[in-house]
Amino acid sequence: MGKYRLIRDGLVAAGVLRADAIEEPGPVARDALHLVHHPDYVEAVIEGTLGDAAIRRLGFPWHPLLPERSLRTVQGTLEAARDALSNGAGINLAGGTHHAFPGHGEGYCVFNDVAVAVRTLQRDGVLARAVVIDLDVHQGNGTARIFENDEAVFTFSMHGAKNYPFRRERSDLDLELPDGTEDQAYLALLERHLDEVLERARPELVVYIAGADPYRADRLGRLGLSIDGLARRDRTVFAACWRRRLPVVMVLGGGYAADLGDVVTIHANTVTALLDQYG
Ligand SMILES: [Zn+2]
Repeated sequence: MGKYRLIRDGLVAAGVLRADAIEEPGPVARDALHLVHHPDYVEAVIEGTLGDAAIRRLGFPWHPLLPERSLRTVQGTLEAARDALSNGAGINLAGGTHHAFPGHGEGYCVFNDVAVAVRTLQRDGVLARAVVIDLDVHQGNGTARIFENDEAVFTFSMHGAKNYPFRRERSDLDLELPDGTEDQAYLALLERHLDEVLERARPELVVYIAGADPYRADRLGRLGLSIDGLARRDRTVFAACWRRRLPVVMVLGGGYAADLGDVVTIHANTVTALLDQYG
């Protein structure tokens, strides 16, 4: 949890973002959440009535601040996606809670911010087609399930083959990486598939989940990417989107290195790469 404040403060201190350019989202509206999540699940999160099994699955204990935090995270992604549609790029300095399913949360993910944002923009008539490029080291299983039968939203997930979640869903494209995969192999695979993904998806919006957990020192990652390799990953994604003049919204995803400074650096590099390409 500590990384969020550090990323924000670090980006402002480094002059990458102006403090007054950062907005604090309010809670997302209930009717937007209900475009993805079952009302009884939403209610249980907000009222604090999730059962023990549901809490275990979520991975952290319920806390009085959990509902507000979760609701604001989703709204942040929604507003950043609106920014992307109007200005070309948008950033949520949180989000990427891709393990959340319609009726339950898991893997530290309460609500699926990306799915709610996409569905809300579709409902509002400002978006038809989207692609989710999920480069967090874990499969975006919740997102894959939510959009499984939706031809308008293409889901692409590149993740560790031996990592959580152990029961996979089917994305439109899943690329599984062996333990210890390093920069060169990772980037070659990404480059080989990125254009195909954008071609097949024909998106009006790219949602990029820029997980910091493919990093070699990540405690949950199992891959072997360097900080520089992750920055090249980001630049590869943004350059491919820019070539097609596609609006991009980025969200953070996971990052669990013991050295929080590394996690902050990796996420801050993603923001810098987006601004360099689109700013
Ligand atoms: Zn992850």
